[in-house]
Parts: sequence; C-alpha cells; structure tokens
Amino acid sequence: MSRLQPDYYFDSAFSIRPSFLTEKGINCVVLDIDNTLVTYGEKIPTEKANEWINLLRQNNISILIASNNVEKRVSEFATPLGLPYIFNSFKPSKKAIVEACTMFGVRPDQVAVIGDQVFTDIGCARKGGALAILTKPINDKENLFIKFKRAMERPIVKKFRKNNADRCFERSEGIDD
Ligand SMILES: [Mg+2]
Repeated sequence: MSRLQPDYYFDSAFSIRPSFLTEKGINCVVLDIDNTLVTYGEKIPTEKANEWINLLRQNNISILIASNNVEKRVSEFATPLGLPYIFNSFKPSKKAIVEACTMFGVRPDQVAVIGDQVFTDIGCARKGGALAILTKPINDKENLFIKFKRAMERPIVKKFRKNNADRCFERSEGIDD
C-alpha cells in the first residue's frame, strides 16, 4: 500500500458504523475535526457529530481528537464532548497515534485515523501503522493553501476510488447496521 493511499474511503465520517471498525479489530479512533466532523466555521459539535461520537462510545471505541489546528479551536470543540484531544498534532507526524496507544493501552493496528486530508490524516495513519480512513470533505470553503493541497491529492483519491470500488462507501452503500 502506497504511503498516501487510504485503506477505505467514505462519503462521510458519519457513515462509518462501529461494527465496520470492530470487525477489523479497531477499538480506538483518532479523529480529525475540520471538514471531517464539522466545517471550519463550526466551533462546537453539531448534533450529527455528537450523535455519531456517542454511537462510537456506546460501542466501546476509544476516541482521541487530533487536529493540526490551534489549541483554542480544538479545545472548544472537544471539551463539550468530554473527549481527550491533541492540538498542533503535526499530522502527518505519527504523534497522535503514539499518544492514543499510550492513553488507551492499544496497539497501532487497533487504531484507525479518520480524516479528510490525504497528506495529513492518511499520511499520519500510514506512518504510525494505523488503519487509514479517508472521508469526503464536508465543504469546499477552504483557504488557498488547502485548495492547493486538494488539487495535489485529487489524482490520488481519484485513482484509489477507481481501483478500489470495494473499499469505497458512498451514499451509505455497504452499511449494515
Ligand atoms: Mg481536516
């Protein structure tokens, strides 16, 4: 598997069912915030994000919020959820995975990184030996730097989706619970 290839692609993080993770031996997720759970503009979790996180919790999946964003953004988002978090996580550094393993007493192969960016979220998963789940970004209101990264990642995502239809879950296909 290439350094930047995800293991799976979902049209939304909220389409990932707990059983999809647990069947693969995953009991811990490292979650990105911006454009994965909410848009850049949403400071606190939406009802949808809240519900999905609770669903993971009910299924005994440990959660670490890991964002490259600044402390204020990350703490304001994670605190209402009562979740541990890392800000300035420097993804694609594997730091967030190492911290999750220490925090929850799990191995990297029991961890899934879920995020919308190839070069940060997927890079982090690959470096740290975790499952890499790429999600479609929630919206396109992104700054110039992110737009540039999107242009760079587009061929990687396109190729993956073309060659791995069985690993792509879009419009809730393949969801069983
Ligand atoms: Mg993101």
